[in-house]
Amino acid sequence: MKTPRKLHIKSYGCQMNVYDAQRMVDTLAREGFVETARAEDADLVILNTCHIREKASEKVYSELGRMRLAKEEAARDGREMRIAVAGCVAQAEGEEIIHRAPAVDIVVGPQSYHHLPQLLARAERDGKAIETEFPTEDKFTFLAEPKPAAIRARGVSAFVTVQEGCDKFCTFCVVPYTRGAEVSRPVEKIVDDVKRLADNGVRELTLIGQNVNAYHGEGPDGRSWALGKLLHRLADVPGIARLRYSTSHPRDVDDSLISAHRDLPAVMPFVHLPVQSGSDRILAAMNRKHTVREYHDAIERFRKARQDIAFSSDFIVGFPGESKQDFAATLALVTQIGYAAAYSFKYSPRPGTPAAEMQETVSAADMDERLVRLQELIDSQQSAFNRAAIGTTVDVLFERAARNPGQIVGRTAYLQPAHVMASPDIIGEILPVKIKSLERYSLLGELASPEFSRGTAPAASSVSIGA
Ligand code: SAM
Ligand code: SF4
Repeated sequence: MKTPRKLHIKSYGCQMNVYDAQRMVDTLAREGFVETARAEDADLVILNTCHIREKASEKVYSELGRMRLAKEEAARDGREMRIAVAGCVAQAEGEEIIHRAPAVDIVVGPQSYHHLPQLLARAERDGKAIETEFPTEDKFTFLAEPKPAAIRARGVSAFVTVQEGCDKFCTFCVVPYTRGAEVSRPVEKIVDDVKRLADNGVRELTLIGQNVNAYHGEGPDGRSWALGKLLHRLADVPGIARLRYSTSHPRDVDDSLISAHRDLPAVMPFVHLPVQSGSDRILAAMNRKHTVREYHDAIERFRKARQDIAFSSDFIVGFPGESKQDFAATLALVTQIGYAAAYSFKYSPRPGTPAAEMQETVSAADMDERLVRLQELIDSQQSAFNRAAIGTTVDVLFERAARNPGQIVGRTAYLQPAHVMASPDIIGEILPVKIKSLERYSLLGELASPEFSRGTAPAASSVSIGA
């Protein structure tokens, strides 16, 4: 039997990249590759890159420096190691990557992962292989499906890409250029993927897409289905207990999505709805295509459908032209909405985007200061939201053993990590947990039904969180 070749894959950036990395692993498994955690042992190293901010792109080049040394070391041992750069940096920079980092053998854009086996063969034959065009065929049809053992090893919560690319063209964003035009996968293909996941123990799905609520895939009736209708269909798949979706755009919140939150208990009451800024002037300059008022209206529609709903968001500080007043409007919006969590970033000019041509007006020091102030506000809201769980009983989907012996960790509806002392038998179950305390961002509690706590674990409240 041929010894399997070893694959090491490192992903940067968004959930989409995590999902893509798994599909690359599945596709290369067909070619006899097995995953290794150590890049130094690998025959093929893939860096699955992110181009969203400058810092994310630059990380790739420092990692490529380390990989070059590993490749030279492998060559001294008489082994051949190949290095591939995938993801959005590959798409944006193409051949330039090989000029900057000649140790790279393969450059592959996000729409061509199904061609990896051929690109590898080409690199073995010709030395280098580059593919960054957008192919006409749908890569999802050609990417290998995960084997049951791989699904089980990845756990009870899985991502499924339902939509890719974006047609919104926010002026700061590279996604429409690196991921291409918005494409939605047909409903039946998604349902097939989901059934396979559910048959192998997956209980929670996160439907992902750069602009997931712009989903408009072809339904079995030949008509275009919105995300809400897809959620209704997936809620019927036996075994699927929780549904999430990310990332949404405020403009694409429609009645079907609101009704999915109102009517389907499986749809989790936690919505990531990025707003970027609380100033209409800046939203217009960003080409976000909605106003602050419209954002509030969207939030209100969700809240009317489900009173226990909570929100997270993304913010950019220091966009060109952002005045003190604009930034104050962002703080005011955060105060009014009250988030359970949020991400905030300093504006990073990206080559090729319209905003990169705009005059930057916010100094580095002001950007730092604004980011700190915004993050302090968001942190205080997040802590208050988490503290409010203490003393309540909440449903937790248990995912895995925690680092602390005897502890099992899961997630609440709001993605808060929750730890209990219990038997590993509860992994994959959704059980009520009485929350006793909060340690940083993690909740600590006890199973509300003690028969599940089997085993000889010490009292939960005496154990600290370690996962
Ligand atoms: N589609 C989502 C939306 O409409 O908000 C966002 C997807 S983007 C991959 C994730 C986040 O990165 C954005 O919400 C934004 O806050 C941030 N981001 C994107 N481009 C950026 C840039 N040039 N500088 C700083 N942050 C950026
Ligand atoms: Fe980028 Fe999101 Fe705007 Fe699309 S909607 S351009 S992914 S920020």
